[in-house]
Formats: sequence, structure tokens, C-alpha cells
Amino acid sequence: MFHRILIANRGEIALRILRACHELGVEAVCVYSEADRDAPYLKLADRAICIGPGPAKESYLNISRLIAAAEVADVDAIHPGYGFLSERAEFAQACRDVKIEFIGPTPEAMGRLGDKVSCKLAAKEAGVPVFPGSEGAIEDPEEAVKVAAKIGYPVIIKASAGGGGRGMRVCHNEVSLRSNLQAASTEALAAFGNGAVFIEKYLEHAQHIEIQVIGDKHGNAIHLWERNCSIQRRHQKLIEEAPSPGLSRETIRPVCEAAVRLIQLAKYHGAATCEFLMDAKQNFYMLEVNTRVQVEHPVTEEITGVDIVKTMIRVAAGEKLPYKQSDIKVNGHAIECRINAEDPARGFMPQPGKVEMWGVPGGPGVRMDTHVHPGYVVPKFYDSMVAKLIVHADTREQCLDRTARALREFAIGPIKTTVPLHQELMQNADFRKGGVDIHYLERLLKAEGR
Ligand code: ADP
Repeated sequence: MFHRILIANRGEIALRILRACHELGVEAVCVYSEADRDAPYLKLADRAICIGPGPAKESYLNISRLIAAAEVADVDAIHPGYGFLSERAEFAQACRDVKIEFIGPTPEAMGRLGDKVSCKLAAKEAGVPVFPGSEGAIEDPEEAVKVAAKIGYPVIIKASAGGGGRGMRVCHNEVSLRSNLQAASTEALAAFGNGAVFIEKYLEHAQHIEIQVIGDKHGNAIHLWERNCSIQRRHQKLIEEAPSPGLSRETIRPVCEAAVRLIQLAKYHGAATCEFLMDAKQNFYMLEVNTRVQVEHPVTEEITGVDIVKTMIRVAAGEKLPYKQSDIKVNGHAIECRINAEDPARGFMPQPGKVEMWGVPGGPGVRMDTHVHPGYVVPKFYDSMVAKLIVHADTREQCLDRTARALREFAIGPIKTTVPLHQELMQNADFRKGGVDIHYLERLLKAEGR
């Protein structure tokens, strides 16, 4: 096992990783920007190092400063968390260059699965269902037109290196496909430094289902079943749950097994998430692989009892996976609500500023993953999430009721948060029934003029 780990992140995930380190008897070194200097979790760290000013480019995204901090603190591994540098192969490579273990895949495996075009090719090889569409990147518009005619409109143009829901265009006919191809490629080159684009079938009504997988350095890999993350706004997830309502184990098992084959084929170690869209007939099409821990990993931890962050650290240290597939049992239901400092009554306006009042829920089945405290100032530099409420219960219905109960216990002010929206959703008949699609929330907000 490692002696000391540097956590190259901030906020709730930094605290989550710190907790995992301490449970494993490993020292945790935190880094922080000037904007985070008063964060209480820094006091729990064995050492805290300032790596620069608030803007992420000058701190959490600055590879040389992070590597310098890691060398000064003499760590033997770095956990990147999610966001920031977690999916940048050059960061994994920079760690390798200075002989510090990157807690995640190798730069090669990350490159193979992180790029949408090469990932799709690998997925086909592993028998993972993918969207019908172009074989690899589009070289010539005529080829795109041919493929679109074959698969039928609408189609979506995507950037191979895309992320964060950017660089995608939906085309309903040949005219719009032709006129969008060049623009999409130019945009992708400017945004991601890579102009490669491809097309695939666009699904109008779909649910977002993702599969958690984890592999070790000895070629073993398992899945931890699925999460349903269909409650989204602007491609950002707001609620995640596991297992997915209305999905039988018989239907999802082969998809999970294919996801395991994919990471084995890519010689991948660490945690990964294979994201899929599922149509009304429960057909699955893979979107992409996220080569890191996800924000929503706790719902899977709650239903399986597997500590994903500790397992990531253990496999990075060279240990064999401590579980066989047959050890993984699904127990009850879990829901996560992302509590963001945004006002859902006013177009989700960001709410920077001081949190004067901070009362959070507790009681049976309630887990709060948060770094916030009374007096916390929501920094303008980073994303707006202030807490994750994760609730576990025996059945989905009990879980919905328990989540509603927990949401009532929140006392946050004067800043506004997404708590009232979550409260509303816990009472929403369609959501309670299960099976709403990825555009449901936006339709609901639009219908009410929000
Ligand atoms: P990113 O890496 O930018 O997050 P993804 O490929 O994961 O891109 O897609 C993000 C979102 O875009 C999906 O969750 C879904 O809402 C929408 N989307 C992507 N591909 C399709 C598709 N083929 N059909 C319908 N919606 C899609």
C-alpha cells in the first residue's frame, strides 16, 4: 500500500478521497488554491499545500504546480478525483515521468477509451452495443450523407475529443447535415484541439444508464451494476439512482458483462463508467467511457457496499481486486440529489456568496458528501455543487419518501439552492413512477415557464 497520496482536487471529492486514505492508513496531502484556503477539510489533511490563485488554470489545472507539490510532499501516488485533470492523459503521463503512481488508468488506456472514435471501435470489438453511425471519424461530407441515409434522420454530429455536452449538433435532414459538418469540425478544433467529428443516430426519447466497472493490474475486472441518471438539465445530471427503475437484472446483465470485456480489452485498471442511452424498448447504445471516479459513485457504493474510492487506491497500489463478480449483490435502492448553489426559481441563476446558515439532514439511510460549513463562501471559480445528498432504503418507494424527508431537513441560507426543485421531483408522479427520459426535466421547466 502507498505511504502518502496527494489529492489533486478540491471540495467534496477531495474530502471523500481523504477519508478513503485515512481508512486505509495512508497519509493524505491536500492541495488548495487561494480561494479555498479556509476550507476546513484542509485541517484533516496530513499536509496542505497552496498551489496558486483561484482560477483553475493557475491551480487545479496546472500540471507543473501539482507535480512540484507532489515532489515536495514526497508522495507515492496522486488521486485526480473527477473534473480538472482527471481525464487528461498528459497528466497521467506527467505522473509516470516522475515515478508517481496515477490513481487511474495508464495514459494509453485513457487515450484509447477517452477518445470517442477509438472508444467506439474498441466497444464494437468487445461486443458492447453502440449507436449506428460512421465507422470512425468523417473524412468527407459525402460519406456522412451516405451513412445518414442508411441509419435515417435525425443524426447527431459529435466531436471525437468532445466533453461536457459541447460540440454536438442534431441534424434532421441532409441540408442541415451538410451545413453543420464543417462548422462542427472547426468548433471542435478550437474547443478541443482536435477537429475529428463523427455522426451517429440521434435518439429522441432515451434514458441515461451507466455502468460502473473496475479493474486491477492483473487483468481482473468486475461491474457494480448500473445507475440511472436521466434527470438532467443542459446535459448536467441532477439526480442519479441505482438500480434503474423497471430494468430487470436479466436485461442489464449482458450489457454490464460487455462493459467488463471492454475495459479488459483496453488493459484498463481503475474505476470507469460506461455511459449508455436506453430506448423505450430497453435497447442500449454506448455513448462514451469516463475514465475516472464519477460524481454519482456513492449510489453504487450504497447498494453494493463496495467502497469505490478505496478500491481504486488498492488496485493502483497493485493489489488484486478484493471482490469477485459473484460477491457483488444489489441491496435496496439509492438516490443522490446534487445540491447546487443555483436558484431554480430564477433560471438557475448562480448564487455565489456566503452561506450563513447551513443545517444538513441526517438520520437512518442518509449520507451527506459535502465540504461546506456555516460561513463558507461559494467561490466563483468552480462548479456550483455544494453538497450531495445520498439516501439508501430497502425499496425505491421508501427511498423516495426518505429523500423527501431528508430534503425537508435542509436549512440553507441566504443563498438559494436546488433543494426546492428536488423536493418537487420527489413528489412528481412521473418521476415516482420511473422511466422518465433525459429531456423530461427540461420539458417540465419549460411548460411552467421556468
Ligand atoms: P459529452 O462527452 O460531451 O458529455 P456524450 O456523448 O456523453 O457527450 O453526450 C452527452 C449528452 O448528449 C447525452 O447524455 C445525451 O443527452 C446527448 N446525446 C449524445 N449522443 C446522443 C444520441 N446519439 N442521441 C440522443 N442524445 C444524445
